[in-house]
Amino acid sequence: MSESKSLSLPKLDRILKNVTVESTALKLMEEAGELGAAISRLRGAAGIQTPPGATPQDLLREVALELLDVAQTAVTMMFVLEDEYGLDTRSVLAEHIEKLTRKGYLTPLPRQADPAGGQRDREPRGAL
Ligand SMILES: [Mg+2]
Repeated sequence: MSESKSLSLPKLDRILKNVTVESTALKLMEEAGELGAAISRLRGAAGIQTPPGATPQDLLREVALELLDVAQTAVTMMFVLEDEYGLDTRSVLAEHIEKLTRKGYLTPLPRQADPAGGQRDREPRGAL
């Protein structure tokens, strides 16, 4: 069985007006850039300045915080897709997990015996 990590991120209470798929996508790219910069600081890339006195632990935390910014923005975009376009996140998540399994990134779950005598699948991974 694969290890999993669940992150529950909130729907933001206060967000700029007129948030769209496009504006959220731009924000996602901005946050991805900040993540890249944080990784460069952690790695001590040439030409990248680190804050004075920053320890490797500080730089690692900065990477994790920027990664959470990326995740938060991605979750916000899912809310936009649900609210503005009626996206069914559960079905898309199930399709995502199926794709990962089909491509070999996940081991298929074994089928579970059904008390009625048949076979049925377990709860899908990533179930909400
Ligand atoms: Mg950020």
